[in-house]
Amino acid sequence: MSRLELDPTGERFGGLPIWGWKTAPDGLATRDQLRREGLRPACGQQVVGQIRWRSSKARHDGGIREAYLYRKAEAVPIGELTEARARGLEAAMRRRRTCRTCRTERPYYISTRLGECTTCADGLADAA
Ligand SMILES: [Zn+2]
Repeated sequence: MSRLELDPTGERFGGLPIWGWKTAPDGLATRDQLRREGLRPACGQQVVGQIRWRSSKARHDGGIREAYLYRKAEAVPIGELTEARARGLEAAMRRRRTCRTCRTERPYYISTRLGECTTCADGLADAA
């Protein structure tokens, strides 16, 4: 079994601190720990450290497992829409609310069966 090398100050391994199991500072969490709280690292979020611990599941890695740590305060809720995606959805909903005939955006979705707003549809119904 190899030595469990820890480096809480980050001096020896290129600046990334390495803590033992449950010795990492408060406010840091692994990806798994974030997920249990419904969070995930934000897009491009920096890894701020690592934890290492002995595990019988990691026999091929010398009995040592490691995981990256993220600042919990910077993590985002899982499933939160990115801004670009939210804008895209908004545009799609606007299109669905806009009548092809009178070009008016309605507070409701235009019926795909009618293909136009109820005002236009009623107008056609009146004319018939
Ligand atoms: Zn219309």
